[in-house]
Amino acid sequence: MSDHATDSWEARAAAHSFYGFTDMPTIHDRGTIVVTHGEGPYVVDTNGRRYLDANSGLWNMVAGFDHPTLIEAAKAQYDRFPGYHAFFGRMSDQTVMLSERLADLAPFDGARVFYTNSGSEANDTLVKMLWFLAGAERNPGRRKILTRWGGYHGVTAVSASMTGKPYNSIFGLPLSGFLHLTCPHYWREGREGESEADFTARLAQELEDTIAREGADTIAAFVAEPVIGAGGVIPPPEGYFQAVEPILRRHGIPLVSDEVICGFGRTGAVWGAETYGFMPDAIISSKALTAGFFPMGAVILGPDLADRLGRAVEEIEEFPHGFTASGHPVGCAVALAAIDLIADGGLLDNVRRQTPRFEAGLAALAEHRNIGEWRGKGLMGALEAVQNKATRTPFASDLSVSERIANTCTDHGLICRPLGQSIVLCPPFTMTDAQMDEMFDKLSTALDTVF
Ligand code: PLP
Repeated sequence: MSDHATDSWEARAAAHSFYGFTDMPTIHDRGTIVVTHGEGPYVVDTNGRRYLDANSGLWNMVAGFDHPTLIEAAKAQYDRFPGYHAFFGRMSDQTVMLSERLADLAPFDGARVFYTNSGSEANDTLVKMLWFLAGAERNPGRRKILTRWGGYHGVTAVSASMTGKPYNSIFGLPLSGFLHLTCPHYWREGREGESEADFTARLAQELEDTIAREGADTIAAFVAEPVIGAGGVIPPPEGYFQAVEPILRRHGIPLVSDEVICGFGRTGAVWGAETYGFMPDAIISSKALTAGFFPMGAVILGPDLADRLGRAVEEIEEFPHGFTASGHPVGCAVALAAIDLIADGGLLDNVRRQTPRFEAGLAALAEHRNIGEWRGKGLMGALEAVQNKATRTPFASDLSVSERIANTCTDHGLICRPLGQSIVLCPPFTMTDAQMDEMFDKLSTALDTVF
């Protein structure tokens, strides 16, 4: 036991909490920022310092940190009825209403929704649904999941197996049957002399070849983010989903859109699938679903999977899966309010209004001699740091240049995310012109300081 109150917040944080996804040398050097509250897109720490959070928390606080409508929606539901679940034949009225709202908003008719507490759990749930279907439809070999290198789908054992990040090997992942295709990043993965169209065609051929090699009837789904987010904001190359979708259709393999980041407006339409013109068989959702005001995820099944799963559940009499807080009524009430704010209350409009300013800001910073590429869609973007712009030579990975840029930004009151050699920006949907300018001014100062 220690007398906590006499220690600094930094020391208290370090003493009794584990850090996930945190660069430990940075923590040892700089300590922890302990945040007490937020004001619009800003957060304030225990020393009273304000930071513009260009990460929106973790891509999720799309309405900022203190939106009164969301706080009121949560308070009102806590007053009415604070807790329930979505099974054993019971479900809260809020859950029913949210499923109706999501079904109306989904790009397909006849949607059915299953609730989780996170995006990782939503991906796990999807895979268990597909495995359940494989068993029920007497095709038990149909279990493999195709994803891409660089894609991020979560941290649970199954969703981490879907994730295409080398760090998962330390856990002995992926589990068998999770196959990763080439990262669809033209700037980095495109070959000498290969056009963007040729690159897309090569990725489509790789998918064809993989299906031929593995056998279509062994593959349960292809899961992709419309824009890869935590892999460094990687929009697909030209025509990617138009090339991939017909291949999957021809082989009867479901196309699942992991919209945990892209969903609810980030790319300038409600769904990333809408932005890129493809029709998913299911959607994975979280983050902006509740504008980050309540932990919640959802699997939104399109008509084919919903009907087949519905039939299988009737036959077997139960889908033995669910989380204690599945479909929590406070989460559902907050989600209903968040969706109204995004779709009807001007937030999606503001994403569209601010996108040109955002892109112009990224493009201007990409002029820097150590920025090799800017990329983005809607209000998600990244700058890729390179040692040599002409040859695209990256900095040695142990130099952690992006960490240094992000740390310098923090010194200037801006939170942004280092991801590999990229700096990622995904500001809240509420950003004003002045806040956009502040974000880019501070990042520009940081780039000049580091390089
Ligand atoms: N899928 C995508 C596309 C994500 O970006 C994330 C998280 O960033 C997840 C899944 C996992 O969500 P969670 O962190 O809520 O488990």
